Amino acid sequence: MNKALVLFSGGQDSGTCLPWALSHFDHVETIGFHYGQRHDVEMTTRERLRRDILKVFPKWAAKAGPDHIINLQALGEMSETSLTREREITLNEEGLPTTFVPGRNLIFLNFAAALGYRRGITRLVGGMCEADFSGYPDCRKETLDAAMTSISLGLDGDYKLETPLMFLDKAGAWALAHELGGEALIEIILEQSHSCYLGVRETRYDWGYGCGSCPACALRREGWADYAAKRSG
Ligand code: ZN
Repeated sequence: MNKALVLFSGGQDSGTCLPWALSHFDHVETIGFHYGQRHDVEMTTRERLRRDILKVFPKWAAKAGPDHIINLQALGEMSETSLTREREITLNEEGLPTTFVPGRNLIFLNFAAALGYRRGITRLVGGMCEADFSGYPDCRKETLDAAMTSISLGLDGDYKLETPLMFLDKAGAWALAHELGGEALIEIILEQSHSCYLGVRETRYDWGYGCGSCPACALRREGWADYAAKRSG
């Protein structure tokens, strides 16, 4: 059987990656990491996002396996970033935003592969994206390819990471979501996915919930505006 494990955080990207995986594989499980995020909202919205996708699309629900939550509290304890501490979002000395959690994607991939090993799954799916405004070095294809080589050697298997969003911008990600599940999927992602770094969900904008001003909200707002303009034009 053709199986995949989706790194599912509950953001816009994972809201697109899960349907993508369900369209390409026969059996799809999800994994989420609890690493001491400053805001618990991510952990609750990811459950709702997954639930609504499976509720509205029975053909996908039939292929969905369990959702796994892995506790990586130690990662939050040792990293002093704006995602895990009450710290202002700025650029650090290396020119990276303080939302960068060092090594996060590499750690996530290793844990996902270790779970996959146990579950008989060698295909991982993640929403990493080079076009991401932040230029996180662990989202680069080169980094991820090297990580998968080391994982395949270390687990003595053929482990692969699928990154359907790697070369898409945010408008392209919305277009892909529409291709996969039409307006119904767009509406679920708008309503249930969470991007805001500050964990704010009080106001619903046309692009979803958020504070409206942090870098993640700005990226999401601009991506939606770009997609909406292309759609109507
Ligand atoms: Zn925000």
